[in-house]
Amino acid sequence: MPHEKIDVNVMALLLSLVFFAGHLAAQDSPVALYDPRIEARIDGLLKQMTVEEKVGQLVQRDAYAGITGLGAEGGTRSEPVARGEIGSLFNLTDPGQINALQKLAMEKSRMHIPLLIGLDVIHGFRTTFPVPLGMAATWDLALVEHASRMAAEEASAAGVRWTFSPMVDIARDARWGRIVEGAGEDPYLGAALARAYVRGYQGKRLDAPDSIAACAKHYVAYGAAEAGRDYNTVDMSERTLRQIYLPPFKAAVEASAPTVMSAFNSLDDVPASANEFTLQGILKGEWKFPGFVVSDYGAIRELIAHGIANDGPTAARRAFLAGVDMDMESNLYPDLIKQVRAGGVREVAVDDAVRRILRVKYALGLFDHPYAPEKPSPAAIPPEYREIARRAAEESFVLLKNEPLVGGGPALPVNSSVRTIALIGPLADDAPDMLGPWHTGGSSPKDVITLRAALAERTAASQMKLSYARGTDIWGDSEAGFAEALEAANGADLVILALGEDADSSAEAGSRAHLGLPGNQQKLLESIAARGKPIVLILFSGRPLALESVIPHVRALVEAWFPGVEAGPALVRILFGDGSPSGKLTATFPRVVGQEPLYYNALNTGRPVDGIDLTHRPRNAAERFHSRYIDEPNSPLFPFGYGLSYTQFAYSPLTLSAKTLSARALNSGRGASLLVSAKVKNTGGRYGEEIVQLYIHQQGTSVARPVRELKGFRRIALAPGESQRVEFIIGREELAFWNIAMKEVVEPARVSVWLGPSSVEGSQACFEINE
Ligand code: BGC
Repeated sequence: MPHEKIDVNVMALLLSLVFFAGHLAAQDSPVALYDPRIEARIDGLLKQMTVEEKVGQLVQRDAYAGITGLGAEGGTRSEPVARGEIGSLFNLTDPGQINALQKLAMEKSRMHIPLLIGLDVIHGFRTTFPVPLGMAATWDLALVEHASRMAAEEASAAGVRWTFSPMVDIARDARWGRIVEGAGEDPYLGAALARAYVRGYQGKRLDAPDSIAACAKHYVAYGAAEAGRDYNTVDMSERTLRQIYLPPFKAAVEASAPTVMSAFNSLDDVPASANEFTLQGILKGEWKFPGFVVSDYGAIRELIAHGIANDGPTAARRAFLAGVDMDMESNLYPDLIKQVRAGGVREVAVDDAVRRILRVKYALGLFDHPYAPEKPSPAAIPPEYREIARRAAEESFVLLKNEPLVGGGPALPVNSSVRTIALIGPLADDAPDMLGPWHTGGSSPKDVITLRAALAERTAASQMKLSYARGTDIWGDSEAGFAEALEAANGADLVILALGEDADSSAEAGSRAHLGLPGNQQKLLESIAARGKPIVLILFSGRPLALESVIPHVRALVEAWFPGVEAGPALVRILFGDGSPSGKLTATFPRVVGQEPLYYNALNTGRPVDGIDLTHRPRNAAERFHSRYIDEPNSPLFPFGYGLSYTQFAYSPLTLSAKTLSARALNSGRGASLLVSAKVKNTGGRYGEEIVQLYIHQQGTSVARPVRELKGFRRIALAPGESQRVEFIIGREELAFWNIAMKEVVEPARVSVWLGPSSVEGSQACFEINE
């Protein structure tokens, strides 16, 4: 038995005690996990608990065969709860049922320790917001926080006090279906959103009855699954891990997320759910994480398939010793009882895991207030909740193309010469898919207002004619609906097409090898386009799609993701210009699937393609021997940060408050920094909101740095003609990176800075970092 591994565990506990004892001020922070009085109560409990009862706290079971995983042997598990054999249940949304189970834990189990009830509350509970990739496209941290707070209020009212969210996995490959669940490809934005979600869920006090505990998942590097195939192998350098994949987790932990979920994938040949380096070493050691780690669904049993355990007990031991405190539904941790008795696992290590879990239960106030309020849920979503859901949807839409109609102005917003609209497509009147993947048991398609419903209301109010045809299914090759769709299109001045993916085409186990429109939607699009009618495409998807063959057929294109309950009203407001689109992409849209993985913050390579015409096959060696494809440009169809508006914004030249900074001063933490600013003016004729983005590139450093890195952003609102000076500070945090010695430091460098509307535009300036 490798005792030194347990010692790491004990060490991590000591470190966290020392760290938090030294930071008693943490008690004043909204969510203090370490509180000496609570630690004393936990000591008291641990003294009385049997090994069986301790291990019971480490066991989490699926309460029914729910929407996730392989929960075949569901059931509410009353008896084991009463015996104290279960610490947490998930996939329950009925407060009556939850309270009944909680009563068993509180009154029948010997130790009277409350259950922790978890659920995947990913983008709202009942009031379903856009999917997280859509929420990210808003770049609106206050809005994300607000939406998460609403989700916490609704979920906690149902008895759920723990959400398996935010998913903070960086995703650089659109084939990976779970890209829909996160913030996209950028670690800076991912970290900012991670903090916003955690703040929203946990509110001012985690022990307030309407707060829920956050869980940063899936730790770690799950998003880098090879070939974008879910659950697949991950292999990456420690530098990439630290620079790209870890920052959003660190941000979540620093924002007091009390739980972290260990991932399914292997990382450098060691499954993430048995990875001592990332769990004990980085999370509990370097970051002094005081909360607990729960495995992903069945991930401990999967250690056998991974090949690092031959049986369940070994899998349990490996996961446990690596730092996984709670076993989600592998049901292997009960074997730890035997292993403690046999001396293979030390009881003090079990005590540490129990302590971490009890800390979270105490922090949530569950010991004092274990029960859900059992207020009857409102008959309808309250209007003020709908208002926020609509605003979130509206801000999440990304206008990717908007070209003039023949002889007229831009296709959008719909102008007054349009008297007849044909609405066509399988997603135009599809309430269930508007909820997107990972909507909760608290949500209902009945709460959704579809595009068709909202458009019918709007066109009726403005004496326009609306015809509707479904046209085709989302998947499948039947053309039975084409004739009706073409007939509708024939009589229309404008065709609004609602195409894209269904909710099941992304999220878990939703990887795709093709990134075009599913089924025969491309064919439907081309048949309608052949009639010469102007087409506005509303695209629903849980990922970037490869739209090279779609773009030529449409005058305008709005990426709508899965917008949630207010899908229709939000889309109609944007279509008719009540608001201007303001979302920007947080994941790169490729031209073709063969470019994946494709992301903006890549390295330059030794053979970049600057100045080379990539639109044709290379004709000579000078064109050929570069980092390129011979049959496709390198560039994306739509880059990270991109998104149009109905108005235009102009950026003034950049000003920097200094031309040089000193690496020594930056590294010493003496507050060295400079101010970057530019004026942004609304030069168009409409009100609009712009997401101003700050990027840097560093040259001359000990390791290569990305061609651009996002280091700041701000959403600003401007009336026509109005301008605003936007300022950012660049200091240690923006400039430090993991250098050749694997130290996070600032090095001497030449730094380029851009302020602009996307990752490929902007006004530029330079400064030097000297010794
Ligand atoms: C998913 C997690 C989720 C868990 C519980 C797993 O299959 O990977 O993201 O939180 O199930 O539903």
